[in-house]
Amino acid sequence: MTRYNISLIPGDGIGPELMKCAMMLLESINDKTSIKFSLNEVDAGDYALSQFGKALPDFTLETIKKSDACLKAPVGESAADVIIVLRRLFDLYANVRPAKSFPNIKSISENVDLVTVRENTEDVYLGWEFYADSDTVVALRVISEKASRRIAEYAFNTAVMRGDKKKVVSVHKSNVLRKSDGLFKNVCREVATKFPQIEYSELYVDACAMNLIRNPENFDVIVTTNLFGDILSDEAAQVVGGLGMGSSANIGKNFSLFEPVHGAAFDIAGKNIANPSSIFLSTKMMLEWIGEKFKDPLLFTEAVKIENAIVTLLKQNNKTIDIGGNLSTTEFTRMVIDNL
Ligand code: ATP
Repeated sequence: MTRYNISLIPGDGIGPELMKCAMMLLESINDKTSIKFSLNEVDAGDYALSQFGKALPDFTLETIKKSDACLKAPVGESAADVIIVLRRLFDLYANVRPAKSFPNIKSISENVDLVTVRENTEDVYLGWEFYADSDTVVALRVISEKASRRIAEYAFNTAVMRGDKKKVVSVHKSNVLRKSDGLFKNVCREVATKFPQIEYSELYVDACAMNLIRNPENFDVIVTTNLFGDILSDEAAQVVGGLGMGSSANIGKNFSLFEPVHGAAFDIAGKNIANPSSIFLSTKMMLEWIGEKFKDPLLFTEAVKIENAIVTLLKQNNKTIDIGGNLSTTEFTRMVIDNL
């Protein structure tokens, strides 16, 4: 029997509360099924910075390197020193964020089921900024053929695996950024020819932002560059009812990291009112990825059960405060685990 090694970053703000819920969920799967996890908590973020002088200490990195996957709760002010470094170190090239309508959650449309596949390694996130002269700053936007091809292929393969819409839209601004986004667009077009079963289209990023509000149900897979993906995926999360339900994956070739889309939400930390669905749905994505990597169908079964348990509770109007209910973090967690 395989034992899956999971590293866990509790982070800051509401992070540790959410991580406790995720651990309860994983431990319940451990107890009730033949799937076995080794869970290793590691320090990273503001707390690690104050205790060890580094937001991402070396011993944390060593533990993460030995794990099969990492589940990360939100980190506070030092977030960039944790997640951007981890993305670079482990070459986590695809940032995948589903946005799905859930029952009894206020949303622009009731039939949204889309996923943003965002290039995660280049663009302005390389942080290459410099002064051209004393009062002018230049930021470099890096787009490469290799990274564009890798993300486009990931997006098309995602469309193949998903439901029956089978669509990919590539989002760019090639009318202005002719060379960089021109390259991204051309690579997407080329990859599209290898997937004749997928309907391919293109949108300028401004039109995409508008259409996400106007008719979000028309989207299936959105593939885009790093900065546009950051903005559009937050918009998509809001379209389906807010951050408390938002999950994401940072996918690499051999290693992946899963995390809620929201930040540390210090305003509600320690009050037992945060919605743990974001970390549960991130855990679901992690189980799917491990299941695929180790060819273990049992993990897919448990992943489906997590989402089903949440949907069942929402249908019964059992909700946390952020989405119009009155359940606490711990009450909702208990109910999810009982409904698995
Ligand atoms: P960051 O800049 O790190 O993204 P932020 O302060 O802009 O952080 P978040 O921390 O993501 O934004 O949260 C914004 C607001 O959304 C919070 O103030 C909080 O009220 C709410 N929120 C975020 N996550 C949750 C959650 N899991 N449950 C309930 N409310 C949440």
